[in-house]
Amino acid sequence: MPESTAKPATIPQPKRKFNLSTKLKIVDLLRPHWTALTLAFLAVLGETLTDVLEPWPVKIVVDNLLQHQRLPNWIGRPVMALFGDNQIAILNFAVAAVAAIAIVGALSSYAEKYLTTSVSQWVTHDLRRMLYGHIQRLSLAEYDETRTGDLISRVTSDINAVQDFVNTALLGMIVNVLTLVGMIGVMFYINWRFTLIALSVSPILFAFVYVFTRRIKEFSRAVRKKESDLTSVVQEVFTSIRVVKAFAREDYEQERFEEKSLENVETALKARSLKAKLAPMVEVIVAIGTCLVLGYGARLVLRGSLSAGVLIVFLLYLGKMYKPMRDLSKMTDTVSKATVGYERIQEVLEIESKVRDLPKAKRAPKFKGKIEFEHVSFSYDAGNLVLKDINFTIQPGQIAALVGPSGTGKTTIISLIPRFYDPTNGKVKIDDHDVREYTLKSLRQQISFVLQDTLLFHATIWENIAYGCPDAPRRKIEEAARLANAHEFIEKMPEGYDTMVGERGISLSGGQRQRIAIARGIIRDTPILILDEPTSGLDAASEQTVIEALDRLMKGRTTLLIAHHLGTIRHADCIFVVKDSELVEQGTHEELLAAGGTYAELYKIQTSQGAEHEHPAVEHAAEKPVA
Ligand code: ADP
Ligand code: MG
Repeated sequence: MPESTAKPATIPQPKRKFNLSTKLKIVDLLRPHWTALTLAFLAVLGETLTDVLEPWPVKIVVDNLLQHQRLPNWIGRPVMALFGDNQIAILNFAVAAVAAIAIVGALSSYAEKYLTTSVSQWVTHDLRRMLYGHIQRLSLAEYDETRTGDLISRVTSDINAVQDFVNTALLGMIVNVLTLVGMIGVMFYINWRFTLIALSVSPILFAFVYVFTRRIKEFSRAVRKKESDLTSVVQEVFTSIRVVKAFAREDYEQERFEEKSLENVETALKARSLKAKLAPMVEVIVAIGTCLVLGYGARLVLRGSLSAGVLIVFLLYLGKMYKPMRDLSKMTDTVSKATVGYERIQEVLEIESKVRDLPKAKRAPKFKGKIEFEHVSFSYDAGNLVLKDINFTIQPGQIAALVGPSGTGKTTIISLIPRFYDPTNGKVKIDDHDVREYTLKSLRQQISFVLQDTLLFHATIWENIAYGCPDAPRRKIEEAARLANAHEFIEKMPEGYDTMVGERGISLSGGQRQRIAIARGIIRDTPILILDEPTSGLDAASEQTVIEALDRLMKGRTTLLIAHHLGTIRHADCIFVVKDSELVEQGTHEELLAAGGTYAELYKIQTSQGAEHEHPAVEHAAEKPVA
């Protein structure tokens, strides 16, 4: 094994920060691996050289042994010194040369494959983590616009296409081009006329390959698009499998999937048929070249103006020269797939997050907790306004409630505080500063959420409670769970706090999940707390335990609470009523009742429906969870 192969295993994986703002170039990705690539390139040279030399010993046997020509001086002297000065020495030399060439070729080929695979793996790793990091940091607005399945397929399949390219085509193309040049050189040396005849078919060959490559690339793009559509369908259905089952739409979804799958098959077959045509065409053109040389050469041999040996050796070289041509034409597929994959990766990297740190953003100081909306308007799609000129102030430590009918923009209002979205107009301020003056991270670190529907990760209860504060000691986690009225039910679980929950773990009831969410909030201990209908969907008994826990969580924090039951917000310091995208009323419970407006009306409806408290889930079942 050449010493070159031992090294790459110890080449440390470079930890680099990528500058995402500049256009990503494949060169930038390859640069950190230049040592391995240089070694691989040397191996490639070895491979090429041995490839070119491979038929040479046959020439020596034919010319120098059978036809008794003398070896040229530059090679004759060392042969004489090593093997002696007779016919058998020449034979020994030729035989030894075959073995030596094969061994050097094998070692070089091993080194080349090992090194390129290692480079391709690292490049893939870099590309993958860069893309994932970028996608994860996109704001919710971009997620609203993009299908998750499409993103998944870009992180997986498209990256694999690039990996394939680095793995097989990058140095493979260099090998083939070098081999081709080498072969042609040697052939010219043997017989330039034959060489010209053999090469006469190459313009047709290149024209074919060029035209085909372009069309194959178009098809590759279409195939990838179809594949990612398919991933999207799968992803959508699997994440909403409950809905699919609830509405018994399995057959419809099956049909939808099969339709997409068929489209996929169709496009892939079209692409395949095109690709399948290329290689045989190359073969035929190559055969024509060989025919020409064979026909012309054999005539010369018959006439006696050429030795059979020269013709045979030339044909050996010719056969070998066409191989890199054929390989190059096969690589067009890998290259076009990789180009398409690369373009698709690039597309994602070029999406600029609408919500991101401003250049002058600074770390937020510890908030006191004053929240202010100043003439805030907002729309999701640059079209109709979901919020119109919202103005309000919440003083530090106050509990404020947002009420109003469904779909009027309450959740949207609270989404603007942690900058899930930025307002279209106006300002959201915390402690008298626009939230955009702070870095996203330092802003969000000081806000806790309990939302309508709490998602648990596939992890233990410990880890789920400490999700927003991973360093929390177990003692604190347990304390938080106690305050959140969760300790009791956690203790009863098979493995207590070590029980796995979430996907494929134990599933918890709505009330239990909310209490875990409250424990998460208690642990984070942030000055600002946002609650979005935390008790909707709970039965009366578990609602009571959740409300108790919430009271403990709210203590000493500025709280913005969206509540469905007006009974739960009676004691709020201030109540804001939202209707049709606008803030229509504000005041305390008593003031608003006395005013006799929307709030009084809502309150009257709720208190007259005595049974409403038992079935709060009904009205909200169809609402989608936010964030
Ligand atoms: P509420 O919380 O008061 O029920 P929301 O703030 O969730 O209301 O929604 C207000 C309006 O904005 C609704 O008409 C809803 O359809 C729309 N909306 C909510 N989220 C999005 C989103 N991610 N993209 C586009 N429109 C949205
Ligand atoms: Mg809502």
